[in-house]
Amino acid sequence: MKEQLHKIKQRGLEDLEKISNMKQMRSFEVQYFGRKGELSQVMRRIKDLPKNERPALGKLANEVKQALNIARSKAEKSLTSKQREVSVIDLTWPSQPHRLGHLHPLTQFLDKVMNIFTSMGFEVLEGQEVETPEYNFDLLNIPKNHPSRDAWDTFYVEGGMLMRTHTSPVQLRAMKKKRPPVRLIAPGRVFRHEATDAGHETTFYQCEGLVIDRSITVSNLISTLEQFLKEVYGPKVKIRVRPEYYPFVEPGMDVDMQCLICDGQGCSVCHQRGWLEMLGSGMIHPKVLSNMNIDPEKFSGFAFGLGIDRLMMLYHGINDVRLSYSGDLRFLEQF
Ligand SMILES: [Zn+2]
Repeated sequence: MKEQLHKIKQRGLEDLEKISNMKQMRSFEVQYFGRKGELSQVMRRIKDLPKNERPALGKLANEVKQALNIARSKAEKSLTSKQREVSVIDLTWPSQPHRLGHLHPLTQFLDKVMNIFTSMGFEVLEGQEVETPEYNFDLLNIPKNHPSRDAWDTFYVEGGMLMRTHTSPVQLRAMKKKRPPVRLIAPGRVFRHEATDAGHETTFYQCEGLVIDRSITVSNLISTLEQFLKEVYGPKVKIRVRPEYYPFVEPGMDVDMQCLICDGQGCSVCHQRGWLEMLGSGMIHPKVLSNMNIDPEKFSGFAFGLGIDRLMMLYHGINDVRLSYSGDLRFLEQF
């Protein structure tokens, strides 16, 4: 029996060396360590031996079992690491499907807007989102009692600061260092304390523009904005301007675009009006020029504000502004 145990050990070690996969490893375990395995059978027979032979053989059987077990776990370790190596370099494995993302439709549209204006010689500026009332309102000729200053319209934060309601402060701050002639646009996020619905969000994107030079006129303003709208929506674009009041411009005007869906005949997109309100603009108020330390007698300029979300929605035919901020992939994957 002693010899038999030595044989089992030797054969077991040899068998282990031949094992090349986990299936063979499992059948090895059954063969040697299983309840009906060779070792178990030998060990069961030990109790039938004469009493004086039992301890030595029992000890030997345990040693053989232990030795085989140590060798087995070593072999299993090297087998799994070998398999891992194989899987790393196995070029026949099907690859994991990569889901490639893309820019948000708002970012894509903003890029388009910036490209158009930079091609016209505009400089792109960025600035802080937390502002002082001075830069957000005062220097823009917005009176102290103007409703937009109300806490129900503007988010106020600590220290008398506020979340900017437009990107005009960026231009005001830039004009502390710059002198005309300037052509600037300031794209970025702005914040309004508003109830959200299909047409309103508390956070949205704006792109404001500013041009100051000698003898800038309303026709410069109209032609620039008409050119911009044609670049975005196509050469068939027709525009009209309507007088509108904004405290920081004089005169102020809104620019409408003839509805491209009904050619001005009236449809649900344009609410049967035939025209779509596109943006606000105007000639910079002399007081605002003075606030920038620019002599309104020598220089003039125009300013405009684009609601990027709204223009993007018209561009793609989207009817709910909240979709842009929903993070819903079913929406985002369409662009
Ligand atoms: Zn229409």
